[in-house]
Amino acid sequence: MIEVPNISVPLRDLERAGDEMAAVRKAAQKRLHVAPDAIASLEIRRRSIDARRGRPITVVYTVRCFMRGGTNSERALLSSIGRRGRGPKVEVVEPDGNPVPLVSGAPLSDGERPVVVGAGCAGLFCAWALARQGLCPVLVERGDDAARRTALIDRFDRTGELDCESNIQFGLGGAGTFSDGKLTTGTRSPYHRAILEALVAGGASPRILFEAKPHVGSDVLPRVVTHIAREVERLGGEVRHRCRLTGLRVEGSGLGRRVTGVELAWREGRPAPSPDAPVGAPGPERAETLAASCVVLACGHSARDVFELLRDLDVAMERKTFSMGARIEHLQADVDRCQYGPAAGSPLLGAAPYKLVSHVRGAAPAYSFCMCPGGYVVAAASEAHGVVTNGMSLAARDGANANSGILVNVNPGDLPGDDVLAGVALQRRCEQTAYAAGGGAFRAPAQLVGDFLAGTPSSGPGHVAPTYPRGVTWGSLDGLLPETVLGAMRAGIPAMAGKLRCFADPEAVLTGVETRSSSPVRVVRDKGYESVSVAGLFPVGEGAGYAGGIMSAAADGVGCAMAVAGRIRNA
Ligand code: FAD
Repeated sequence: MIEVPNISVPLRDLERAGDEMAAVRKAAQKRLHVAPDAIASLEIRRRSIDARRGRPITVVYTVRCFMRGGTNSERALLSSIGRRGRGPKVEVVEPDGNPVPLVSGAPLSDGERPVVVGAGCAGLFCAWALARQGLCPVLVERGDDAARRTALIDRFDRTGELDCESNIQFGLGGAGTFSDGKLTTGTRSPYHRAILEALVAGGASPRILFEAKPHVGSDVLPRVVTHIAREVERLGGEVRHRCRLTGLRVEGSGLGRRVTGVELAWREGRPAPSPDAPVGAPGPERAETLAASCVVLACGHSARDVFELLRDLDVAMERKTFSMGARIEHLQADVDRCQYGPAAGSPLLGAAPYKLVSHVRGAAPAYSFCMCPGGYVVAAASEAHGVVTNGMSLAARDGANANSGILVNVNPGDLPGDDVLAGVALQRRCEQTAYAAGGGAFRAPAQLVGDFLAGTPSSGPGHVAPTYPRGVTWGSLDGLLPETVLGAMRAGIPAMAGKLRCFADPEAVLTGVETRSSSPVRVVRDKGYESVSVAGLFPVGEGAGYAGGIMSAAADGVGCAMAVAGRIRNA
């Protein structure tokens, strides 16, 4: 097949054509100078929107064309383009190989099966890749399956009763399940395509395979992660919910330490929660030790008990830069107008995203993070008496508001003392202060942007209605976050409005605090994904400090699985 990059089609032409595929096919045919029926079939490989100011909006495609006449006619076409000299940049490409092939092998004994702790993006995809490699992993997850978790989150949003083991942070699919499901990433990995294909097999839209800014949505993700967990089981793996890592068995001393097993607390046969069932009343917890010489630790950045466990075991960890701030909400229609001008509202464009960063002399940079077009602010707490915000959207991204985190980096040197978990302590302190400022029951403190910039408390909303589900308490964000963070946000918001006019809308809403967007620690590992202090322990994903989003966490998990599979086979 022939790949043709950068076919730019004016939005106006696409709207007039009414049929996007037909318009793209026509543009490809024109670019290749071939007859209308020369292209047997066409696959879009990439689609992005070019909405740079001062030009008409275009949609830019990379396509793969299967030419009538097969490979011979493709090669002939390519050489005729070459002979013409300044022809379009095209190349013949081979179909994608699968970097995570299905392998069957001799079954492993119980102690040899890899144990993966945490079924978030990193752990779930690690287990999926291990299962495809025929290694029958045991995947343990402290939270519930997607259905039970959804019910508990709904109940928390309605009543404020938090299940500290099953919530927005914890449960099948991890922090990514009730998210925007944005799949954009600044990282490169040979596994990205395989991960996207696995998400599509689980029910995500096939458009994620080619959209430059793909997303799945919170209404689709639970069924997608459930499908991947079932796939792990179908391939011989085991998935245990409500099964929490409480300890690691480690033998040896000094540089010769090696993991020999995991200690688990497991609640079996937990009844599905009903709206009236008391939170935290599952069956009795039983302890179990599982022998394992290979343990993948994919616990995410909210597993603070796991960080403590690792510190107590003297596993090498270091502080790392993390971020803090608040969620900001605008009217999506305002963002659309700023980004797309008169073309705002076109179904071919959808709800507009933005990505902003401010550099103001004398203040730390502030930046927008995890922007959710047409989305909702979520109550992302996992601890009692701590308020945490984040954002999500549904597949349709049709909510009235746009939200994003407006965040500022906190560097290791900004923290007092020498405790490696000083960042966790700061996060927790801010979350608890915000809880008190919200007045309890997980209401969140909120302030209008105009009042925040003027340094006066707010008393109620303007034209942007906050979407945080537990309700907000109007007042001030002052005192809830470190001064450097608040100062950078105050300097950054007007600067960002230079790029997105509506950003400093005085009636935009800030809801806080946003403390769980990145991990404050890194669990130090070598190039083979293995802890530098305990052999057989593989820290992966965001909590371990090696990822910053769904795709990078999933790719880190798959990369680790392939490394572990290689080792087990060569042992
Ligand atoms: P996690 O997803 O946090 O998974 C860790 C898992 O380990 C959890 O399921 C947890 O229950 C489990 N666990 C923890 N401790 C234990 C234990 N002791 N025993 C057993 N299991 C344990 N990123 C994007 O790229 N796009 C987005 O649109 C996006 N939106 C987000 C929206 C929200 C509301 C949130 C909270 C996050 C969002 N993120 C988004 C970030 C993204 O979800 C994370 O980067 C990603 O989930 C990290 O994956 P992970 O596997 O490393 O950790």
